[in-house]
Amino acid sequence: MPVFFRHPSSLQHDTGWGHPERAERIRAVEAGLERRDWLGWERREAPRATEEQLLAVHPREHLDAVREMSARGGAFDLDTPTSEGSWEAALHAAGGACALVETLLGEGERAGFAALRPPGHHAEPARAMGFCLFGNAAVAARHALDSLGADRVFILDWDVHHGNGTNAIFHRSREVLFASIHQYPFYPGTGPLGDVGSGEGEGYSLNLPVPAGAGEDVFCSLAQHVAIPVARRFRPDLILVSAGFDGHRLDPVGGCTLETASYSALARQVRALADELDVPVGAVLEGGYDLGALAGSVAATMEGLADGDEPPAVARDRLADVAAKVVGRYWEL
Ligand SMILES: [Zn+2]
Repeated sequence: MPVFFRHPSSLQHDTGWGHPERAERIRAVEAGLERRDWLGWERREAPRATEEQLLAVHPREHLDAVREMSARGGAFDLDTPTSEGSWEAALHAAGGACALVETLLGEGERAGFAALRPPGHHAEPARAMGFCLFGNAAVAARHALDSLGADRVFILDWDVHHGNGTNAIFHRSREVLFASIHQYPFYPGTGPLGDVGSGEGEGYSLNLPVPAGAGEDVFCSLAQHVAIPVARRFRPDLILVSAGFDGHRLDPVGGCTLETASYSALARQVRALADELDVPVGAVLEGGYDLGALAGSVAATMEGLADGDEPPAVARDRLADVAAKVVGRYWEL
């Protein structure tokens, strides 16, 4: 039975009036799933991340900064306020992602979802930003590599924003293949096609920018014709999805035009890759700010990840050819 990680502390991270990254997001996701009997998934409480798990990605000064900022309810920047409950929420958001990979690699479960907040993919090693305090998906990937026997982890980030934090954390690493499909130019300004990683990790960052207005055809084409063929050659032991839903056409923050069903299509592609490689796949919640679109898209993703159907073939978009020219220097496509 696939596993869904949650925790009530996600509701205690108060970002203040009018902030799009708000507790209602989690309430909407859970209410939608409750109405559908949780799609048959098992619910589990997310534990706190341990200090050791966090310190594998973030310096101690960053942990101290998040704890102290939360205690006084201060803000890291205009986008990234905290409240008294933020520290506890952040610990459980990272801890839920770690528990997810433990379930996948330790218990042999095929699929799971960690749906907590704050999100994580903008958090750099020593910097909270873009609504994110700790790099939840990165912390989980590092935990899988350090403690759970994984040698290689593939992270697909389909949030509409570039996952600059995850990308920075693994920029020089070949243990993690990081692929991000994101609107560009857009916040946070990073993630051009030419950023392929550095040092030992050159070729292991796949930045796949798309223009505003891009929809399912473009996202699915880049996944099917660029990211997934590279991941197939990379042969990961674990697949993680940084699952943000702000590329939905109803999203008030992003400028793309994905439909709810588009996330099911993307998830089915990832599921098919996981089945082919015989490895598990876990999704970690990132953005998504229209409550209805978010709730529907999380459910669509869960269905796609648990499903065994062949994903539909996707026509090759022009952007896949452009990306293949760069990525093809490192990987046979
Ligand atoms: Zn986002």
